[in-house]
Amino acid sequence: MAYKEIIQFIQEKFKSKDFIPLHAPVFTGNERKYVLDTLDSTFVSSVGAYVDLAEKMMAEICQSQKAIAVVNGTSGLQIALQLAGVQRGEEVITQALTFVATANAIYYNGAQPVFLDVDYDTMGLSPNSVSDFLVEFGEKRESGTYNKKTGKRISACVPMHTFGFPVHLDELVEVCNSWNIPVVEDAAESLGSYYKGKHTGSFGHLGVFSFNGNKIVTSGGGGMIVTNNEAFGKKGKHLTTTAKVPHPYEFFHDEVGYNFRMPNLNAALICGQLEQLDSFLANKRELANSYADFFESKKMIFRKELENTRVNYWLMAVELENLEARNAFLKETNDSGMMTRPIWQLMYRLPMYKDCYRDGQKNAEFLEERIVNIPSSVRF
Ligand SMILES: *Cc1c(COP(=O)(O)O)cnc(C)c1O
Repeated sequence: MAYKEIIQFIQEKFKSKDFIPLHAPVFTGNERKYVLDTLDSTFVSSVGAYVDLAEKMMAEICQSQKAIAVVNGTSGLQIALQLAGVQRGEEVITQALTFVATANAIYYNGAQPVFLDVDYDTMGLSPNSVSDFLVEFGEKRESGTYNKKTGKRISACVPMHTFGFPVHLDELVEVCNSWNIPVVEDAAESLGSYYKGKHTGSFGHLGVFSFNGNKIVTSGGGGMIVTNNEAFGKKGKHLTTTAKVPHPYEFFHDEVGYNFRMPNLNAALICGQLEQLDSFLANKRELANSYADFFESKKMIFRKELENTRVNYWLMAVELENLEARNAFLKETNDSGMMTRPIWQLMYRLPMYKDCYRDGQKNAEFLEERIVNIPSSVRF
């Protein structure tokens, strides 16, 4: 029982010797009232005021011009990439250390992910890896940057803010701008995370959030695209609502659109949740601070926010010394009813992405063997 003291500490924190989840949602505000309101009004589906309200709230939180509510974060990413101009047969730069949805959204657009290494400190896409790759393979042409080796256009770059830790955004945006490659931030995990005082998701051409049940706030299922580009905002709304041309009764759709609109029922739930975001963030910060003190006293690495960033502490992370220690930690904690999880397996270990290009992946492989998430719920 090498990790007995840790288990005891977490059990005391959560005042429970039973099952302790990784991240449980809490519904303590107006959620019930707003959801019942949609039932009473019968507007549970594609018409209703909560969708507009949720979009307004998210645009304000992210200081973005436009927010588009969608059925989930994955679909949001798919559409954001289409808006950024990604087409069939092209390449999109991203990290291998991510949740599978990032790579899937690229694949849905008929493009191929190019997996570049993360930084050790942020656990997210490294501006240096991107720069090195583009210097070696990039060629600027009139219609964009091409991969000299494959002849394919490199049409977007998708950094992901792992567990809410912002990537080095200034440097990354600068590299991508210098190569005319649009940035689409996978901000699914980073609602409430800031980089130099500015909300994540608002640095790229587009940013995408998820409101899945395990995220910091949830709509059951749902997501949001944010952008400061008015044309993207308009087109995004159009594409996610079957590309229907507005008319009092006629059905005319001017392109192949998607039914990706968030239902009003889910929007009602997220409005109730977003009202409490600040208090959720404060609770999580309090928990993170006590974890930080505890793990420091045990001479263990608890992942803390970097300078110039404010992290939402969505899922809190500990770095074990090696793979054996990680495996022992996972076994011991899960055996005692405490939910802990390893970071994801790298995307090129999955059968569908095994042949995609990847660089050295030194940091990604190091982190893959060592990072685990520990119980991080808002309420403890
Ligand atoms: C949760 C998540 C998504 C997808 O969100 P869904 O709403 O579940 O579709 C995408 N990327 C990352 C990194 C995520 O963690």
